Amino acid sequence: MYVCSVAVNIEKYRIVSNELNTKNVTLVAVSKLQPVSHIQALYDAGHRDFGENYVQELVDKQAKLPSDIRWHFIGHLQSNKVKYIASFVHLIQGVDSYSLLKEINKQAAKHDRIIPVLLQVHIAEEETKFGLNAAELEELLQQLSNNLLPHIQVKGLMGMASFSDDKEKIRKEFRSLHQLFATYKEKGFTILSMGMSGDFTVAIEEGSTLVRIGSLLFGARV
Ligand SMILES: *Cc1c(COP(=O)(O)O)cnc(C)c1O
Repeated sequence: MYVCSVAVNIEKYRIVSNELNTKNVTLVAVSKLQPVSHIQALYDAGHRDFGENYVQELVDKQAKLPSDIRWHFIGHLQSNKVKYIASFVHLIQGVDSYSLLKEINKQAAKHDRIIPVLLQVHIAEEETKFGLNAAELEELLQQLSNNLLPHIQVKGLMGMASFSDDKEKIRKEFRSLHQLFATYKEKGFTILSMGMSGDFTVAIEEGSTLVRIGSLLFGARV
């Protein structure tokens, strides 16, 4: 009898992760809305970097899963929830305001940590309130340059391309993000997080160092 208990595509995982390894690109498996058993299956296959979008879900899963998992927060983080993840989060991707950075700094200090973060840049055509434009990024980096927030470390940039089938449009958006990344490299930026299941190949061609892949590994989210 064939019992399909795990929907994780381990075969696909091995192919993708080997390919990314040879290119020195970090794979973050986006496990939002996936049960703990699916994460455990990928963990058992050797994977350690997982990405979650929702604080409560992340906290619940972190408590149930092995402690050497590197948890990436990739959703929109509200200031009043930083305290729940500050003790363990590996990288907060997608910060776009000084006030949030201040709160992360404050909570990190309580745990005697330096929390690495990425700044989110808005590159897609779609209207959204999340992400900085180039001028806002410059302004935020200016604000940070006086080192008043010693418990955060800005490691680079993160962005999401338009939801589109137009590969050239997506390519242009990733290229513009890579250009910004290159501009600020002397700040010690090492991580450029761009690329998801549908567009990670283009993202890597345009200089991504970290991709966030969910549905390709776990199947469609319910
Ligand atoms: C859900 C999500 C992903 C993964 O999307 P897939 O298309 O399933 O690979 C990547 N990045 C962010 C910010 C997400 O919210």
